[in-house]
Amino acid sequence: MSNESLANLLKEERRFAPPADLAAQANVTAQAYEQASADRLGFWAAQARRLSWGKEPTETLDWSDPPFAKWFKDGKLNVAYNCVDRHVEAGNGDRVALHFEGEPGDTRTITYAELQREVSQAANALTELGVQAGDRVAVYLPMIPETVVAMLACARIGAPHSVVFGGFSADALATRIEDADARVVITADGGYRKGGASALKPAVDEALTRPGTEKVRNVLVVRRTGQDDIAWTEGRDVWWHDVVGRQSDQHTPQDFDAEHPLFILYTSGTTGKPKGILHTTGGYLTQVAWTHHAVFDLKPEKDVYWCTADVGWVTGHSYIVYGPLANGATEVLYEGTPDTPHKGRWWEIVQKYKVSLLYTAPTAIRACMKWGDDIPAKFDLSSLRILGSVGEPINPEAWIWYRHHIGGDRTPIVDTWWQTETGGVMVSPLPGVTETKPGSAQQALPGISATVVDDEANEVPDGGGGYMVLTEPWPSMLRTIWGDDQRFLDTYWSRFEDKYFAGDGAKKDDDGDIWLLGRVDDVMLVSGHNISTTEVESSLVSHPKVAEAAVVGATDPQTTQAICAFVILRGSAAEDEGLVEELRAHVAKQLGPIAKPKKILPVAELPKTRSGKIMRRLLRDVAENRALGDVSTLTDSSVMDLIQEKLPSAA
Ligand code: ATP
Ligand code: MG
Repeated sequence: MSNESLANLLKEERRFAPPADLAAQANVTAQAYEQASADRLGFWAAQARRLSWGKEPTETLDWSDPPFAKWFKDGKLNVAYNCVDRHVEAGNGDRVALHFEGEPGDTRTITYAELQREVSQAANALTELGVQAGDRVAVYLPMIPETVVAMLACARIGAPHSVVFGGFSADALATRIEDADARVVITADGGYRKGGASALKPAVDEALTRPGTEKVRNVLVVRRTGQDDIAWTEGRDVWWHDVVGRQSDQHTPQDFDAEHPLFILYTSGTTGKPKGILHTTGGYLTQVAWTHHAVFDLKPEKDVYWCTADVGWVTGHSYIVYGPLANGATEVLYEGTPDTPHKGRWWEIVQKYKVSLLYTAPTAIRACMKWGDDIPAKFDLSSLRILGSVGEPINPEAWIWYRHHIGGDRTPIVDTWWQTETGGVMVSPLPGVTETKPGSAQQALPGISATVVDDEANEVPDGGGGYMVLTEPWPSMLRTIWGDDQRFLDTYWSRFEDKYFAGDGAKKDDDGDIWLLGRVDDVMLVSGHNISTTEVESSLVSHPKVAEAAVVGATDPQTTQAICAFVILRGSAAEDEGLVEELRAHVAKQLGPIAKPKKILPVAELPKTRSGKIMRRLLRDVAENRALGDVSTLTDSSVMDLIQEKLPSAA
């Protein structure tokens, strides 16, 4: 952002106070902000006591070698014990941990006592396969209970896992196995997606032919789909039901240092080559457990929680596995897609399990908007009491739709800003405290220091725009990029001195609330003004004929960049010149003439990462008539062919 700070265009005046009954019984009240600002480290030391430590830490933060943080460094604990055993010991062994719903409709209910036995067996099996503390284990599985068991078993024996999303190709898997130097791969024959069995094991077989993966000794295979033509490498491949099934269901967990590596996870790759983010034990578990308790107001005896993310993303790690289970939650685990066998599948699941806390992503909400209001209306969603959003800025219209059609105008929405790198939620409303604003993540959580700065690293005043930064270390921060400290320093700690650079643009409104404006790489420079892609997209989505929009700046001789918009129209909207003019005028009226798109192209689909984020850099390549950059994390590369056909100048 060279000359001017981000233009502050969008005006959103709607406000929603927390429901009085929720506020009266909220886990966390406004006092937490005061406590944390009076004594930030004392606040986190108190949250660490929510966990069971084998050896309690005496030191909260060692920041003597910034930005390499050590939290609770003389403490020792076992993550799996915290997520499973301690709930059984507290007398809650009969509580349901997981309500598993397979895509074909098969179900399993797993209590904490059962989870303890399964995790113990899996830990014994990994030990039998020679896995020792510190060895990396790659996990390439569908969304099934064994995935949660496998991750917890790794944590239990101190073997960092590297979960690779089951939708990734053999190549993507091979690069991640090589980078993490994994010794064992846990996979399945396949999983169910979009109404059929889709194989996983062949991708592992192929990945393991690539150079750099030779150190993998064993492939542990869960039988999920039961295909019988599965290839088998004797001596290397072993069945989960054989090796895990025959183990003792007793296992004594050993405590590990608070800074022992817990997992490596590669970022989504929205902006470029994925980075292997390293998270460790004590600080990570403290922050994910506390934020889950605070942001979702979890009452473990009553609530049914459901996070729809895939476990292959950080949201699945922190808010399916570690946060909720550390808190003793009862949660839903769903294997499949939202539209299989029908577009109401999610709402049917909410109704069936009486889900009270739901956490999903804007891309899913926009898809549901596109499918129609009548679909969720067919189900009883009255159990819901809090709705969460994560992954991208949520357009105000999508926020309002979510609250109205899913939340029955009752439920607070928590728009949670965070990243793979931050490990846990950083900026979010608190459901019993914050008066919410559609489209804003609002305030740093208690104990978190987040702000917006300008090019010179000065904090912007209320009403100003610039870059999202974190000014103090936080417990679940990444410790480094696996094997590449220099890239860690360059990517996050070199843009501003002593501040973590998140790579996202943001603004503060007149109340000091934070609005995320998309990635810094996506911000447009138009005639000397920095304009946020998010704001122009939100304006387009607020038009009744638009379901989704992606906006990019394309090089332009007159204006430096020109705004180019790709839109998906709602069901019956006709695509013609008149409509394009209408949309341009709509944006100009809402945001001002400077933000009026030069080009608007109706398209059938937008390019997205497998975690559902719009990949604007590819649209920029198209708009600027260039060969496409790295498409390896794209869901469906044929989407780009369709878009290119639409743009004759780029052919
Ligand atoms: P890569 O870093 O490899 O390009 P990525 O940034 O998409 O991939 P993640 O760590 O999964 O990988 O995503 C974090 C990013 O998602 C944030 O930096 C931000 O851009 C976006 N994001 C997440 N939650 C929100 C939110 N509530 N509001 C706005 N943006 C969000
Ligand atoms: Mg990122």
